[in-house]
Amino acid sequence: MKVRTRFAPSPTGFIHLGNIRSALYPWAFARSQGGTFILRIEDTDLERSSQAAVDVILEGMRWLGLDPDEGPFYQMQRMDRYREVLAQMRAKDLVYPCYMSVAELDALRERQMAAKEKPRYDGTWRPEPGKTLPPVPEGVQPVLRFRNPTGGVVAWDDKVKGRIEIRNDELDDLVIARPDGTPTYNFCVVVDDIDMVITHVIRGDDHVNNTPRQINIFRALGVEPPVYAHLPTVLNEQGEKMSKRNGAKPVTQYRDEGYLPDAMVNYLARLGWSHGDDEIFSREQFLAWFDLDHLGRSAAQFDEAKLRWVNAQHLKAMADEALAPLVAAHLAARNVQADDRLPALCGLFKDRCDTTVALADWAVRFYAPVQPDEAERDKHVTEAVKPAIATLARLLADCAWTKEGIAAAIKQTLAESGLKMPQLAMPVRVLVMGTAQTPSLDAVLALCTREVVQQRLGHA
Ligand code: GLU
Repeated sequence: MKVRTRFAPSPTGFIHLGNIRSALYPWAFARSQGGTFILRIEDTDLERSSQAAVDVILEGMRWLGLDPDEGPFYQMQRMDRYREVLAQMRAKDLVYPCYMSVAELDALRERQMAAKEKPRYDGTWRPEPGKTLPPVPEGVQPVLRFRNPTGGVVAWDDKVKGRIEIRNDELDDLVIARPDGTPTYNFCVVVDDIDMVITHVIRGDDHVNNTPRQINIFRALGVEPPVYAHLPTVLNEQGEKMSKRNGAKPVTQYRDEGYLPDAMVNYLARLGWSHGDDEIFSREQFLAWFDLDHLGRSAAQFDEAKLRWVNAQHLKAMADEALAPLVAAHLAARNVQADDRLPALCGLFKDRCDTTVALADWAVRFYAPVQPDEAERDKHVTEAVKPAIATLARLLADCAWTKEGIAAAIKQTLAESGLKMPQLAMPVRVLVMGTAQTPSLDAVLALCTREVVQQRLGHA
């Protein structure tokens, strides 16, 4: 059996980390099994769906490298197909028209609630041998209801939750087409999962209640349902279900904040799946290890500090040449043009940064004027040290512009002035980089141009 998985987001809000994890696992499972990963946009809720939300889904997946092999398919473009299947189901008596009005349904619900029963459709319009249906009311467009099996159970072995059994008596006859003929959600999902030959449905556990209904529709259509894995919720840092309403960010914002796709994949992978105690791993390792047998059973909680830490680990491990274009993009957004020094800058600063934005904050000091921190300036750039700074500036004017040449100039300045290294290095850092906390002075200066250093030391 060739594995086929799908991610089926509804574009009704900006996709956040909790949502995109539901893309990561089916993607990883397909990749790890040599299977196919499909993207399906469930856009039938016309009022709440938006192109902007679709764009964030596509952009976020592209950024994270979760490329679909097929799709995106849009449910709104598949309406003819749903109507075709509805017609087949009608012909086979798998569905029936129901003329119960909203007022009648409300009254039914109230009676059931008053009798402490679970509110459910009572089958008034369900045809049965020997049963007389009520007279068809005039001018009412019926809904179509699915003839749910009576008696018995619907059961499946969920890859996360274990065996789940639901009695058919608890499921009423689902509306699968509205009075205007448009198909409803659970029906479209099943038609799509059948047409797209999905073998494994990996999705959020907010859909567990839909699954027995969907399985019944599968079987009615003569198709065995796929394997299901229902992922526990992702909670935000406050322990609430992650959602846009309580502050979740769109996935693409993490790109703008300087997170690396591989770090995001690593972090999201661990948010509901484990491979022993491994915390930091590459995309390749993840794909080699991923399986459905080590999915977590309890809700995972988002932890931004941990995400930053994971990002920092990936940043340190990444090649300077690969980091440079990412940092260049942040610089370009600030109208700063980088040059071929950027990879070396990344190499020099990546150990003290946890995002590419933090790296850009350093790099920008090499390309645009710096404003030394006033307090640091007052503390380090004292009258006593100014003559030594002048000496250094003079020696730097014609030394070899290499780390070694600069180191020699610094050494000579110390010898001539009698200052200790920090007494000279701190004020020079403040003047050239705007802050006294930098990597070693010769390395920093070597990545500046001679002109910039001269000019900034001139402000002593
Ligand atoms: N469109 C559904 C959602 O965004 C997912 C449906 C599914 O995966 O079956 O929650």
